[in-house]
Amino acid sequence: MTKINHWINNQIFTSQSGRAQDVWDPATGQSEKQVVLADETDVNKAVEAAQTAFPAWANFSPLKRARILDKFKTLLWDNVDALAKVISAEHGKTHDDALGEITRGIEVVEFSTAIPHLLKSDYSDQVGTNVDSYNMRQSLGVVVGITPFNFPAMVPMWMFPIAIACGNTFVLKPSERDPSTSMMIADLLKQAGLPDGVFNIVHGDKVAVDALLTHPDVQAVSFVGSTPIAKYIYETGMQNGKRVQALGGAKNHMIIMPDADIDMAVNALIGASYGSAGERCMAISVAVPVTDAVADALIERLKPKVEALKIGPASDKATEMGPLITAQHRDKVSSYIDIGEQEGATLVLDGRGFQQKMQGYENGYYLGGTLFDNVTEEMRIWKEEIFGPVLSVVRKPDYQSAVKLVNQHQYANGTAIFTRDGDTARNFARHIQVGMVGVNVPIPVPMAFHSFGGWKGSLFGDHAMHGNEGVRFYTKIKTVTTRWMSGLREDPQFTLPTL
Ligand code: NAD
Repeated sequence: MTKINHWINNQIFTSQSGRAQDVWDPATGQSEKQVVLADETDVNKAVEAAQTAFPAWANFSPLKRARILDKFKTLLWDNVDALAKVISAEHGKTHDDALGEITRGIEVVEFSTAIPHLLKSDYSDQVGTNVDSYNMRQSLGVVVGITPFNFPAMVPMWMFPIAIACGNTFVLKPSERDPSTSMMIADLLKQAGLPDGVFNIVHGDKVAVDALLTHPDVQAVSFVGSTPIAKYIYETGMQNGKRVQALGGAKNHMIIMPDADIDMAVNALIGASYGSAGERCMAISVAVPVTDAVADALIERLKPKVEALKIGPASDKATEMGPLITAQHRDKVSSYIDIGEQEGATLVLDGRGFQQKMQGYENGYYLGGTLFDNVTEEMRIWKEEIFGPVLSVVRKPDYQSAVKLVNQHQYANGTAIFTRDGDTARNFARHIQVGMVGVNVPIPVPMAFHSFGGWKGSLFGDHAMHGNEGVRFYTKIKTVTTRWMSGLREDPQFTLPTL
């Protein structure tokens, strides 16, 4: 049994916590690895390493930091296949999908290599007699990232490249369900020349998270995961004086207007709803066809495509959709199909019990593609995040009622509209109460140089991830006002200086 340990000061750190848990291969239901679970002593070691490394790293010129990140980017491309294999083995997603998430992560590394430019700030000449003023963006210190299972490469890379480019040192607490990718990333950072202690990893569960949230030397916390935990992280972090950005769960709607290209909409839906087994925070989990005629045409075209989905292990190149992350999560998603039936939704396709069809992989955590029609806003399958390959169709008679449906949801991560009408598209983009919006784009994940983040129950805090928002989150602003007297004399002043 392989043991996955922490990474502190550019080397493996063997935990003495005595706590560990199995890491499963979701395709087979087998486990050959265990990940250690940190105790407070382990967390203190990681934060101490980061705190010790901070002053020297913060003093590196931004260009020098950028060059290390540039080398890291090259190493990521060199090792992209090996990284994707590890992701597939622990997460279950297909090789191509894993390559996709690494690419999106590399884009943030590329963005971070522009840090000398990104940290440039304002200068005002002669704001008063012989007085000039300028801003600096300075690093915070030790910052922490706590990440979910569904993007073991991309989500950590939303955080640490910008954090360390800004001169901070970093402690990552990756998901305990697929921890190996982060260890490969740490090794590549070391190969790129990152000094000891700038990037550290502690594996673990709530014990590790709580120790990080309350540690006096931790200045800021970035979190991505489910909404109840995001809220907990935000509140606990704030109570302990940290800067916090905490991204939570989602329920993403796609409105299909009567003028939309229906075949294009169906093709978009199949990938956006069932890709990565629906375990994406930007997955479309609710389709909102406007008018019954559009709904009937949609279901007619969608049903055979969902039935034809090639479900299997990532090792089979033909696979389009892999297993879910754990048996427990598969059972939870399955229980939502029971709930939908009890609530009176029309079960068009039922994915329950699919693993029995998986010859040779009966112990894997598979679920078939599931499709519900006639779902209403009173139902739990609409209100709650399911996070699996389950698409609900909510029929609406017109555009206004479709928009009202989206706007009344507790989550507001992503949404999309499919239409050929420019006025409708513009109205939608301006008035929808959601953080990331697509027009004929089903999964509108912003590029690295824009920022990723939802509204309402999908994000707690003031900053989204990466792009300029990332730079703002990982720096604090200082404003310097200077005066050179050039022979001028000034009498004592007892009123507030005005220039
Ligand atoms: P999760 O909330 O269970 O876990 C996320 C992290 O929190 C993990 O590192 C985990 O160890 C830690 N954690 C879990 N329980 C904890 C507790 N009680 N106290 C302290 N820490 C705890 O999420 P997950 O199942 O790994 O990931 C799926 C969820 O993440 C979904 O809800 C999905 O929508 C969300 N997600 C959101 C985004 C986004 O950008 N908004 C992106 C990816 C995933």
